[in-house]
Amino acid sequence: MASPPNLYDAEPIPDSAREEIEALLSSGDLFRYRADADSPAAALERAFAAHMGVPFALAVSSCSSALFLALKALGLEPGDKVAIPAFTFAAVPSAVVHAGCRPLLVEVGANYRIDLADFEACLEEDVKAVLISHMRGHTSDMDAILALCEARGIPVVEDAAHSLGTLWNGRKIGTLGRIGCFSFQSFKMMNAGEGGMLITQDPDIIARAVIMSGAYEHNWLKHAIVHERCRFWQNRLPLYNMRMNNLSAAVARSQIEELARRVRDGRANHDYVARLLNASPWLAVPDPLPQEERAPDSIQFNLEGFDGDAEAVAFQQAANARGVPVQIFGMSEDNARAFWNWQFIGEQRDLPKTRAMLMRACDVRLPARLTQDELDSVATALIEAAAAVKDARRNAAGPYSASA
Ligand SMILES: *Cc1c(COP(=O)(O)O)cnc(C)c1O
Repeated sequence: MASPPNLYDAEPIPDSAREEIEALLSSGDLFRYRADADSPAAALERAFAAHMGVPFALAVSSCSSALFLALKALGLEPGDKVAIPAFTFAAVPSAVVHAGCRPLLVEVGANYRIDLADFEACLEEDVKAVLISHMRGHTSDMDAILALCEARGIPVVEDAAHSLGTLWNGRKIGTLGRIGCFSFQSFKMMNAGEGGMLITQDPDIIARAVIMSGAYEHNWLKHAIVHERCRFWQNRLPLYNMRMNNLSAAVARSQIEELARRVRDGRANHDYVARLLNASPWLAVPDPLPQEERAPDSIQFNLEGFDGDAEAVAFQQAANARGVPVQIFGMSEDNARAFWNWQFIGEQRDLPKTRAMLMRACDVRLPARLTQDELDSVATALIEAAAAVKDARRNAAGPYSASA
């Protein structure tokens, strides 16, 4: 069998981007508002909105910018509490802090999804907005979350950075809440190096976000949407300058037509490796929720029957030695997905469920481009690494436990 491939290699940018990029290199028109209309950034917004089936999209510099603008567009006040899952990337609590708000962490269970009882309890704590981060593309029970928030009039923002292509009851993730935010950073389904998108159906939200993203001095006229609302908000809001440049937009737009294939292959790859891993007594991939059709480009699984942290670390090392980089979220130093490392968010209660999950949850990239042979080599390395750690442990324990 082939040795495992480099799981961090990207796919090439489609050839269809080259002509537009060549034209930009010749003209030097990299700023989205240089031309009167029809910039590559505007073209990306139109294409992305059409793809998602929403009226409004705003291209920005990153998903973090989109999350920040989303909270500002909702009109949150300094100090307002925003509930977020405790399992997410540090950029998410950071966007809340950047917007002047206070993150309130919600417990996440062993299946990487929000603990609904804890979520409901948190909503009673004067929460002004909910930011649902679909971490690693795992969708929490959005039916329950939306119903609980709607009953209380609390707006929901979706961090769909890693969920482009995921469906919930057949509806596109990112279109369920008031605002959806996406990332085009290189490890996401569309790779522009950096970049993000904010989508909504609400004319005032998009107008506010357009202005605050940096559409100064009537540059909002170059967005073919909600001009009356933009005229109203002009000069009433600060300009944070979080625009996307034309080069990133051209790179991103060329990949919209690749999405269907990437989602299909990513899901098939994930489900194939999940079946192999689940046959090991030591590895468990949680099932998706029944409403969910996932679009994964990585796989997460829990170590089962591992007696202590040392065994978990030994597994991580054994997998790395076999050529598959594994991170256990709670085990690697300074991990940006371990909530106890977010010292900038202020005092929080302990979150024992999320903490227990993070200490045994493993993360492996699984890009859509992998071949069957490569998938087999990744799965074999992981299964052998787990067996090696557990067998060594059994042998070390002596003859009495050898038959167990
Ligand atoms: C990547 C990611 C982000 C941050 O996206 P940027 O575009 O890098 O700012 C936020 N949330 C999740 C779940 C992510 O995966």
